Amino acid sequence: MGSSSPPWPSPLPHAVVLPYPAQGHVIPLMELSHRLVDHGFSVTFVNTHFDHARVWASHPGPRAETGPLRLVSIPDGLEPGADRNDLGRLTLALLERMPGHLEELIRAASAEPERGPVTCVIADQSMPWALDVAKKMGLRGVAFWPASAGLLATMFSIPSLIEDGIINADGVPTSEHRMIRLCPEMPLMNTAHFVWNCLGDPITGRIIFDYITRGNKFIETAEWVLCNSFSHAEFPVFNYAPRIRPIGPLLPGLKPDRLVGRYWPEDSSCMEWLDQQPSNSVVYVAFGSFTIFDPHQFQELAIGLEKMGRRFLWVVRPDLTEAANTAFPGGFEERVAERGRMVGWSPQQRVLAHPSVACFMSHCGWNSTMEGITNGVPFLCWPYFADQFLNESYICDTWKVGLRLSKDAEGIVTREKIDKTVEALLGDSEVVGRALELKEVVARSIGEGGSSFDNFNEFVKSMKKVV
Ligand code: UDP
Repeated sequence: MGSSSPPWPSPLPHAVVLPYPAQGHVIPLMELSHRLVDHGFSVTFVNTHFDHARVWASHPGPRAETGPLRLVSIPDGLEPGADRNDLGRLTLALLERMPGHLEELIRAASAEPERGPVTCVIADQSMPWALDVAKKMGLRGVAFWPASAGLLATMFSIPSLIEDGIINADGVPTSEHRMIRLCPEMPLMNTAHFVWNCLGDPITGRIIFDYITRGNKFIETAEWVLCNSFSHAEFPVFNYAPRIRPIGPLLPGLKPDRLVGRYWPEDSSCMEWLDQQPSNSVVYVAFGSFTIFDPHQFQELAIGLEKMGRRFLWVVRPDLTEAANTAFPGGFEERVAERGRMVGWSPQQRVLAHPSVACFMSHCGWNSTMEGITNGVPFLCWPYFADQFLNESYICDTWKVGLRLSKDAEGIVTREKIDKTVEALLGDSEVVGRALELKEVVARSIGEGGSSFDNFNEFVKSMKKVV
């Protein structure tokens, strides 16, 4: 052995990790941060003040302020009582106010002697301007995309979609009900379902479209574009856009001491309830952190769950409906008490790994999708907005591990449809069997020698090299 110094900086790399302030972004970026710490990095994890308070308030253990993974926060630019589910306003505020705060934070973090200077910025692809901050400060920049590579490739393709006349310069489809395929073997996409057209209202859509278009330019400077997917799941997309490197699914598994970054306190009592149910008997019903039901649909879902006569575990967030208080149909809780359980927020990753769970009625958020397939659980798909329609196509048409809960002419998923589709899914041994096969494929991708495992290690190695 020679006496030359190792080919990485000492102390080891210090990453500033910046998620978009939404639950489905904070959770995977937090897991990425833990993995980096496992590989000797120190991480400064930057939430907005608003999310920082929520994450600590819902964390059960003592608040750890030290150690290699440190949580800090900066303002999001909105006033304290503002509606942070208004994605248009939130995004504009972030863009205007956060870059300056991030720069200050990086300077302060670099001056702390025990960690060593910041060496790289790992920006959520939905915070692309952070890569510009990194560039100006002479730091290495990495983009991380917590959703599907298919969606990311679609966003990268905006200039050609405009050039080909599929959308206009504002992102609006030029014809109704047009189905396109971005690349061979990728699912067909309804142009009306492009993510910026599915955010509730056209003004928000326009703001997000502009934000994505500007963001695409910043991504060009990223050394790595990482994605929380795996190569088998979306191989045509990785051939079409080889810059995107899959390192997922990034899930903490059942490690109890991992800080997960959740916004709501978990109700873990449902795990004991699951322990008492027969294996493969429970329909798990959860729609992520954003989905809002209109009160009529909420009632219909409750009646549908009651009518199906099976066991169920239903996540009813306090803000799941448009009504101020989510109210069940009269007498519902008593009638289903023997076989149904409602919680405000579940430990979803543990729930999906539980042998009592038979299937997952889901809004098809990408994290939920990855968590379901990692555990071999088949899906009942009920997408609500953003990229969830594309994810539904992956589940039902590409991987064929789920069925759609289609709406009637009034736009309602009826009680009869719920009952029938649950029965159809659980009686379909091919779909259930494919879900179990896909679980094996995921395990191979993330296990030693798998493509996600190798990509992650290559990334870590490159970030440890002095440039
Ligand atoms: N989640 C959870 N408990 C719940 C519901 C959701 O822990 O009761 C987690 C879920 O495991 C996932 C995230 O919240 O990691 C939701 O992300 P997803 O992309 O599925 O949906 P979004 O909230 O972004 O719509």
